[in-house]
Amino acid sequence: MQRRHFLAASALPLIGCHSRNEMRHEIEGGFEGISLERGHLLRDTKTWPAPTTTQRTRVLIAGGGVAGLAAARALRLRGMNDFVLLELEDSAGGNARGTQLGGIACPMGAHYLPVPGDDAPQVQDLLEELGLRRRMSGRWVWEERHLCHSPQERLFFRGEWQEGMLPLHGVGPQTLAAYRRFSALVEHARKAARWVIPVTSVQSSALQLELDGITFSAWLSQQNLSDAQLLWYLDYCCRDDFGAGLATVSAWAGIHYFASRHGFHVPGEGAPEREGVFTWPQGNAWLTQRLAAPLQSAGQLHTGQIVLRIAESKHGVEIDAFNTASQAVERWQAERCIVALPLLVAGRVLQTPDVRIRERAAQIRYAPWLVANVHIAQPLFDRPGAAPSWDNVIYPTGTAATLQSLGYVDATHQSLQRVPGATVLTWYLALGDAPEGRRRLLEQPWTHWRDALLADLAVPHPDLHNKVTRVAITRYGHAMAMPTPGTLRHIVPAATLTGGRLQFAHSDWAGYSVFEEAFALGQAAGSARF
Ligand SMILES: Cc1cc2nc3c(=O)[nH]c(=O)nc-3n(C[C@H](O)[C@H](O)[C@H](O)COP(=O)(O)OP(=O)(O)OC[C@H]3O[C@@H](n4cnc5c(N)ncnc54)[C@H](O)[C@@H]3O)c2cc1C
Repeated sequence: MQRRHFLAASALPLIGCHSRNEMRHEIEGGFEGISLERGHLLRDTKTWPAPTTTQRTRVLIAGGGVAGLAAARALRLRGMNDFVLLELEDSAGGNARGTQLGGIACPMGAHYLPVPGDDAPQVQDLLEELGLRRRMSGRWVWEERHLCHSPQERLFFRGEWQEGMLPLHGVGPQTLAAYRRFSALVEHARKAARWVIPVTSVQSSALQLELDGITFSAWLSQQNLSDAQLLWYLDYCCRDDFGAGLATVSAWAGIHYFASRHGFHVPGEGAPEREGVFTWPQGNAWLTQRLAAPLQSAGQLHTGQIVLRIAESKHGVEIDAFNTASQAVERWQAERCIVALPLLVAGRVLQTPDVRIRERAAQIRYAPWLVANVHIAQPLFDRPGAAPSWDNVIYPTGTAATLQSLGYVDATHQSLQRVPGATVLTWYLALGDAPEGRRRLLEQPWTHWRDALLADLAVPHPDLHNKVTRVAITRYGHAMAMPTPGTLRHIVPAATLTGGRLQFAHSDWAGYSVFEEAFALGQAAGSARF
């Protein structure tokens, strides 16, 4: 509470800002985190040299994101330790890795995990193993220290900060009526079908398949829902979870976002309190680091390895990988291979891609993403209204933010320090439906993105520029599958991905990307008997 009061007291009038801005310093930084070159090497190299070594293992896991790490954990828990995991980057974690800036831990991608429901027992078990869940007087209790502290989220709307993300401040009765109507539609959908995470654990209903046939925006317009604030909020939610807005994702995805979790409630209208979310300074890297640790100590994690070729034979599977340290191709022979790679990559490296891969890969559209970590040396001045929160979003105005960022999370929000000091703000930009998003992501220099984020954040924090010391930008060219119309029809049950010598596990199979989906698929692949 003390920290909150101190920050609120810093909501000073911003007099004198312009004179400070005149002395603007050059902010340093650059791209980091993802090796686009390694991915492109795989795409562009026609002929690789012959392998220099051949090694054997019972199971080879290709790809060390959440799905690959979950598969490794499942193998380990059943006592199967003769396996290795090959990962392209220099550390495991995939989209859920973390970094440090100015000595402060911060996320490089995924940053939260909602408290898992009973449909995701695999994730509940993991959290229990990691000490985040325990039984007390016959009921489950979640570890408070890792649940996001209050205040959780705020929106900069009409010149001031308001609590929560749903625009409320000064909205008219027609907006509130639109919120109530959407809430009723979500409740109706919840009663008419099962909305479950992980999605690969259930059969889709006729209603869900119908919703999968159109975009969310087309469905909203069929329902005569056109209120600007409601549409902005729903668009924001879709960009946040799916990497693209409501004109791109399906109506199934838009409803699934709410119906599978907390529903949609108008604040203050008798709704239950929103469920908690787990978060850490380094985001979900807190989880992936713990999943990777036992593999590291057992020598089972091989990083800097570009898997080039996976070929199934009568007696097993042969995998070739380019070792970026030795600059040599190395061969592995295994009884099984768990392919925890994005489908885009799996389709390229599998010698005889399965018809399911071909079909799904043809349908899939990937969202590019950009994540920027912004180190600030001193606390920011703040506009009036709600106190600084973990998640801070800026409602677009006519003049700024044509770029539609997802705002920022504060890496030191979970810290118990009483006096605010230096911190890292992690700024997110999903480019799934931005025109030429991927090309711009690849071609623009890092300074372009730095300036764009500074302009965006200067709306609520005009003193930002002078307090930023460094900006580190991570680019994801093919970050996640977008649940566009038609996706649900291509989702196959998890059990059918684990039958033969090749087993598949990656969030791409779920049609959208969240921790629970990736983890459940990895767990299923690692648990399959052979
Ligand atoms: C910016 C961003 C923010 C996100 N935020 C959240 C969040 O807050 N909460 C949440 O639940 N989800 C979030 N997600 C979704 C996130 O993608 C999933 O939670 C999860 O991390 C996906 O794991 P995965 O294993 O399916 O895929 P990936 O993370 O894609 O893992 C695939 C792995 O394969 C490796 N690989 C690729 N090619 C090769 C090759 N040729 N050889 C060897 N290895 C290879 C990659 O390097 C990677 O490690 C976010 C995603 C992004 C991009």
